[in-house]
Amino acid sequence: MSPRNGSAGDTIAPMRTILRAELLSIGSELTVGETRDTNSGELAASLTAEGVEVLRMTALPDDLPSVRDAFAAAIGRADLVVSTGGLGPTPDDLTRESIAAAIGETPSVDPDLEAWLRGLFERRGISFPAVNLKQAWVLPSATPIPNGNGTAPGWWVDLPDGQVIVALPGPPRELRPMWSDWALPRLRTRGLGVATATVTLRTTGLGESAIAERLGSLLDRGANPTIATYARADGVDIRISARPEAAAGPPDHGPRLQGDAPGPASDPAALLAAAEREVIARIGDHVWGRGDTTWPQAIAEALDTRGWSLAIHETGLRGALPALLSEGLGDRLPMVLSTIAPAGASADETPSVGDSASGRDGLLDDAQAVRASSGADVGLAVRATTSGGDMAVTIALVDPGGEHVERRLAFIAGPMGRSRAALLAAAVLLARLR
Ligand code: AMP
Ligand code: MG
Repeated sequence: MSPRNGSAGDTIAPMRTILRAELLSIGSELTVGETRDTNSGELAASLTAEGVEVLRMTALPDDLPSVRDAFAAAIGRADLVVSTGGLGPTPDDLTRESIAAAIGETPSVDPDLEAWLRGLFERRGISFPAVNLKQAWVLPSATPIPNGNGTAPGWWVDLPDGQVIVALPGPPRELRPMWSDWALPRLRTRGLGVATATVTLRTTGLGESAIAERLGSLLDRGANPTIATYARADGVDIRISARPEAAAGPPDHGPRLQGDAPGPASDPAALLAAAEREVIARIGDHVWGRGDTTWPQAIAEALDTRGWSLAIHETGLRGALPALLSEGLGDRLPMVLSTIAPAGASADETPSVGDSASGRDGLLDDAQAVRASSGADVGLAVRATTSGGDMAVTIALVDPGGEHVERRLAFIAGPMGRSRAALLAAAVLLARLR
């Protein structure tokens, strides 16, 4: 599989810890919207996990001057430039030509690569197409990156000032192993990123601006730890990321000393823990999960703590609640009932159902009924009714500890309102279980 056992270690280049990266996604299929750029996101997540700051991600058409200029500019800003795409054999695949032009080198055919490539075609009984020869090109500064799943080798290019270009083919199944098994280990050996500590806190019940108000100056840009908010479909995530104090502050572009061990006071884990305590102190009542916890995971865990199972009866949610919760609850959820609208109401314009004269919400009867007929420990009944442009949500719970009813408002109607109603119900359920 390997055309040549090239290794970045073979090349002598100044040591330069890779702290800043740029990503180039190359191919007109991206800029006309035919293919979604998933490569950049995957590489960005991988580099961020290594403590490398991704300065920018750019998508480019198959146009030599644009791609050449993008490489030249990125090399000027970042320590590492990773490109995907444009390594095919056809004339519109111009990444090799663009890199050569950007760094002023001339490609030549690598005999080992050519032999490997011709071998691939021979084994398939196909005569070698002349256009494919450029997939055997290298540059004086480039080391080929073997591709076990295609005909396009990648390039590792060492630049005189210590920057690295990693050029990978576009198809995700080809580049993923080339990145994680070949390029990433070599980048790590060379010195990649700073040790960072990161946690994501998942919140519910507060909008992004309300969270920003409570967190105040904690959200200041450039602070260490960095605290940022991200609005997601199921709530606002707060990401806290700490780096060693020595590497904090405004970025400079000089090489960093390696082996600068951070002192205990600047330990990212300690900085992170302190920041997380501060965030929890300000909005802790709204935090329902950490990391990539999902609602079903959080609820499953809370049910397991008590050894309980759950049954659900939703009305007016059109399946939003089981859509949110059923995947992942397994045997803990023996029954789900879904009623389109309360009796006598049109499905689209479900009127608010008044409480019974006794003051006991009729919905508690639903919760009790689904609990009894399923044998579950917890009966959850949720009713959503449109109320102007909003959705009035009533949540009733019957569990071994007693009964509980809560009324909430989702400030949007329609399918989004029903999803929001399901999230409100999940939040009330989780709070009650905990
Ligand atoms: P290439 O021949 O190296 O230009 O890669 C071509 C194929 O890779 C495209 O037809 C897409 O299917 C896929 N591809 C290229 N770039 C991306 C990207 N940024 N994200 C996801 N898939 C991509
Ligand atoms: Mg292409």
